Amino acid sequence: MTDTTTDAAVSAGDPVTEDGLPTYVADFLSKYDPAATPRIDFLRARFDAGLAWVQYPIGCGGLGLDAAAQSIVDAALEAVAAPDNAPHRNVIGLGMAAPTILAHGTPEQQRQWLRPLWTGEEIWCQLFSEPAAGSDLASLGTKAVPDGTDWVVNGQKVWTSLAHEASWALLIARTDPSVPKHRGLTYFVCDMRSPGVDVRALRQLTGEAEFNEVFLDNVRVPDDNRLGEVGAGWRVTQSTLMNERVAIGAGAAPREGGPIGFLADLWRREDTHRTIGSFDKLVQLWVEAETMRLTTERLRQQAVAGTPGPEGSGSKLAYSLLAQRVSSLELDILGDRGLRFDDWSFRRPNLDDERNRPAGYRFLRTKGNSIEGGTSEIMRNIISERILGLPAESRTDTTIPWNELPR
Ligand SMILES: Cc1cc2nc3c(=O)[nH]c(=O)nc-3n(C[C@H](O)[C@H](O)[C@H](O)COP(=O)(O)OP(=O)(O)OC[C@H]3O[C@@H](n4cnc5c(N)ncnc54)[C@H](O)[C@@H]3O)c2cc1C
Repeated sequence: MTDTTTDAAVSAGDPVTEDGLPTYVADFLSKYDPAATPRIDFLRARFDAGLAWVQYPIGCGGLGLDAAAQSIVDAALEAVAAPDNAPHRNVIGLGMAAPTILAHGTPEQQRQWLRPLWTGEEIWCQLFSEPAAGSDLASLGTKAVPDGTDWVVNGQKVWTSLAHEASWALLIARTDPSVPKHRGLTYFVCDMRSPGVDVRALRQLTGEAEFNEVFLDNVRVPDDNRLGEVGAGWRVTQSTLMNERVAIGAGAAPREGGPIGFLADLWRREDTHRTIGSFDKLVQLWVEAETMRLTTERLRQQAVAGTPGPEGSGSKLAYSLLAQRVSSLELDILGDRGLRFDDWSFRRPNLDDERNRPAGYRFLRTKGNSIEGGTSEIMRNIISERILGLPAESRTDTTIPWNELPR
């Protein structure tokens, strides 16, 4: 475990205000010259100074400021080429685990997990889906049984992105099979290095093994690693899922960030395949991407301030559909060259390579966007029921004890 020490300037001095933030960052940089400080020391110091995510509380990597003030910090650090925490390597940690730990963790849990998570020293994964419990996640069957101060966990998870790199996992398990499915779940943090955790690679459409199946065989999870009350796991899960949708659908992106950027670059770089028809499609997608970016930026700020709502399902749905249309047009424009894709050898993804991927890879990978983090059909159900207030799908299994459900 990495100890967390709050920067003396934050804990002893006056609270840092948004107006004082530029001076505070300049002071920080005068103490920690990014060119002379080893990367990990710089990142740890940045966390301790509250400059990791300024909206988080003091002691948790933040300063309790408005989330929008983070852009002041980011711009100042970018101007001096300070190292970042490679957020693309720890998407589940940053997008889902951190806000869940902040909302439901004890101060000790926050102290233990948030700093190494933010610096990227510890990668996180999410042990939610099971072979018979994806969209209907609350029907999951992985069991956790109390034993002394531990829980003993048995079951199988699937589609677990990054499990092969992760130190920690968000885990939901059934602790009471005799009550209806939503009420018998408890939420844990599982040490992926524990005996009994078996991670097996699964090959996906792109040829890579980005995700895994994970077998849990008598894995001991200390009760200290429980997030929230016993039996209240579904409530904690909801906060993870809402943050997940925002993380997928409304990640902070500059203009022309993400798939639309690749398409626009291609259009500007090459004139051989330009036609009036493809230009019209390009402009239409560009406008949609920009409209979505601006709308979701508002949503993102709402979420990082700790209040993600069901609206995240709207941006998750829109993002995945748009990404698929954008990557399709990129392939259309490339013609035969778009079909040339890699060597198909079975391998783990190199997450640092994102910008160097071929268009064919992007086309195939975007297919997963409408499944991961909840399918498009489920997003539509959430929008219709929780945002538009339309009648709910008929459900017959929410009052019957889980162990009496047919399966
Ligand atoms: C790239 C990728 C990464 C992933 N990473 C992770 C991860 O890290 N951790 C993790 O736990 N999981 C992960 N998943 C799993 C993902 O969350 C599930 O695949 C997803 O929730 C769908 O569940 P399922 O596959 O069991 O499909 P099912 O739930 O079996 O659904 C099958 C089909 O039926 C439709 N359907 C189901 N119920 C309804 C309904 N009520 N109304 C209308 N249509 C319905 C679905 O939309 C879908 O089209 C990942 C998946 C992908 C593709």
